[in-house]
Amino acid sequence: MITFNKPPYVGRELDYIKKAIANQKISGDGEFTAKCTAWLEKDCGGQSQVLLTTSCTHALEMAALLLDIQPGDEIIMPAYTFVSTADAFVLRGAKIVFVDIRPDTNNIDETRIEEAITKKTRAIVPVHYAGVSCEMDTIMAIARRHHLAVVEDAAQGVHAYYKGRTLGTIGDIGCYSFHETKNYSMGEGGAVILNHPEYREEAEIIREKGTNRSRFFRGEIDKYTWVDKGSSYLPSDMNAAYLWAQLEKADDINDNRLASWKRYYDGLKDLQDAGRIGLPVVPEGCVHNAHMFYIKAKDLEERTALINQMKGAGIQSIFHYIPLHTAPEGKKVGVFSGEDRYTTRESERILRLPMYYQLSPKDVDRTIAEIHQFYKEH
Ligand SMILES: *Cc1c(COP(=O)(O)O)cnc(C)c1O
Repeated sequence: MITFNKPPYVGRELDYIKKAIANQKISGDGEFTAKCTAWLEKDCGGQSQVLLTTSCTHALEMAALLLDIQPGDEIIMPAYTFVSTADAFVLRGAKIVFVDIRPDTNNIDETRIEEAITKKTRAIVPVHYAGVSCEMDTIMAIARRHHLAVVEDAAQGVHAYYKGRTLGTIGDIGCYSFHETKNYSMGEGGAVILNHPEYREEAEIIREKGTNRSRFFRGEIDKYTWVDKGSSYLPSDMNAAYLWAQLEKADDINDNRLASWKRYYDGLKDLQDAGRIGLPVVPEGCVHNAHMFYIKAKDLEERTALINQMKGAGIQSIFHYIPLHTAPEGKKVGVFSGEDRYTTRESERILRLPMYYQLSPKDVDRTIAEIHQFYKEH
């Protein structure tokens, strides 16, 4: 059986977890959290501040709290995304305004954003699908023109770039995921990327239950107290220890995934050239991280048949998001702006192929062969 995902494991994770235990510091903000944070800040170009969180969902919740999103505020995002992108703002009472995606990258269609803006709009949340960047120059220009915040959902975009800038550092706030399905993992975890120094103190307070404990630990104040609203968004240092093993080997992980990605691409290009399937598009200026490899079948029916045939051959291939505006909760809290030209159509075509660190070239080739077989028969 070729599974769709295997959590990344590079070898030193247990040593580091034992070290965290030996440090007698298994709660948050210990040695390994500091190491991961320093690595991420460097990868972010040195201008942003990074705080590890318990998930990307929680990083998004922190963003909504930092922006002081209020009931009735409107947040613009694609409907083709994970529920957390919306949930974080729904928890603050916001109304979600969904915008169509582009059929090439499956990212928010930047040309459809401006018509979705109203007097109540507060933020735009671009999602970098598959680690391929949204058209950020255009999105930032729209946001500045209308005085809106930009929160990048870069859950899939760690160690990926747009015109030389790290995803997560282009908007006002960025959010990463280190869930076991992502390129670098700590089981459950994430990070919030703060791109303005003035967010830092408030973010630390929100992350530490509304207290100024972070300043206390740095010796800046002699006792800590409850100063604002907050929650508990800091991960255990044991989880950070697992992540540190991965970040130390980030280039190895990245190169390995990119090699699988390229092998799929080269092996399936003939089917794309023959007009049978679609392949991922990486626009100029985008450096992706091989978070995902997908193909696009003709339609839902063809995709379902292909999934079943692959399953029969022992290969797990899976579809992805059900567009949020068609989900029961999405209908309650959101509206779709304009026409759904591509969101539903593309979501029904996408088929994700096995992709993980150390996926064997042999398994990639078997998957490619099975897809060729399917299209020969159909
Ligand atoms: C994985 C993912 C999330 C959620 O990440 P968690 O760390 O599991 O909370 C949010 N948005 C997108 C686009 C994702 O892919």
